[in-house]
Amino acid sequence: MKRFLPLVCALALLTGCAGTAEPVVQTFFAMDTVMSITAYDSGPTDGLVAAQQEVNRLEGLWSRTRSGSDVSRLNDAAGQWVEVDADTAALLEKANAAAQESAMAFDPALSPVMDAWGFGSTESETTAVHRVPSQEELDALLPLTRDLPQVEEGRARLPLEGQALDLGAIAKGAAAAYVVDALTEHGVESAIIALGGNITALGTKPDGSPFRVYVRDPQGSEEDYLCLMALPAGMTCSTSGGYERWFESGGEIYHHIIDPSDGYPAQSGLLSVTVVAQDPALADAWSTALYVLGAEEAVARWESGMGSVAGMELILVTEEGTVYITEGLEEGLETLGEEAGYTYEILRR
Ligand code: AMP
Ligand code: MG
Repeated sequence: MKRFLPLVCALALLTGCAGTAEPVVQTFFAMDTVMSITAYDSGPTDGLVAAQQEVNRLEGLWSRTRSGSDVSRLNDAAGQWVEVDADTAALLEKANAAAQESAMAFDPALSPVMDAWGFGSTESETTAVHRVPSQEELDALLPLTRDLPQVEEGRARLPLEGQALDLGAIAKGAAAAYVVDALTEHGVESAIIALGGNITALGTKPDGSPFRVYVRDPQGSEEDYLCLMALPAGMTCSTSGGYERWFESGGEIYHHIIDPSDGYPAQSGLLSVTVVAQDPALADAWSTALYVLGAEEAVARWESGMGSVAGMELILVTEEGTVYITEGLEEGLETLGEEAGYTYEILRR
């Protein structure tokens, strides 16, 4: 029997001995999740304040639940053109590209279906009301998904009335790039940025060695880990898993990552997917997409040497307990889940 636990962050940090200065940690709640930035430079306060302000600004643009956000205005006016911030237009372009390349496994317009399950529509998970929608209800809602937003300079439009965007699978990752810029502008050169399940390494530890992060055991408690791995400077790792948000009904577990092809929680045989990539928005979008697509498709894309996934490193955890890790992550890797029954396989091209 699988154990699913409601856990906020998919990854824990190990920053270890970080040199002389004590790191400064800024923790805050934004985008419906806990975020933290740990800076190792001396006097990072201005950078940390600017970074948090940037996240708040982006939440003001991309929140589904805040009235007046770009996403709310697009959803309220679905079918019509709406003026949007340049940052929103850029994110929509990125989301559309990931949607198309993933054959719509990642769909930023999945909101009507998410709402039917009680995922994503409310202000926070604590106030969410979950239920299992009927097949008829899903059949009526699915035609409102998949049509991607149209984007032009300074404006965007959901093509169909009744459509709604939910950027929950890409927005936190996208925000990391802005956090990096804000910190860098204020002279911060060494920091680890954790925005929900997305972790970005700004530079290295002060001693020049790469930051290291724990990847969570998707079946364990918060302190159970699958592995510890090096996260090279400038890279982001994003983890998606059904264990992050779920509810139980009639003895069945229903989790928050929806397969857009049928509107049901994805059942691809995976427990979690970790993606390491240069672009934090893409790391976020693709960890969700590959969770939907499953291990075989993820490995085929990585092996093909073509497309976005080929440029990423992956950790795929199957329901059978096999952990597939692509070869680029081998250096600095420490496996930790053997006692919990996991077996590890390095994938080589
Ligand atoms: P993540 O934690 O990045 O995998 O994102 C999960 C969140 O993205 C969910 O809580 C939903 O808001 C949304 N979501 C769920 N399934 C999908 C999907 N197939 N494509 C895009 N967004 C999704
Ligand atoms: Mg994601």
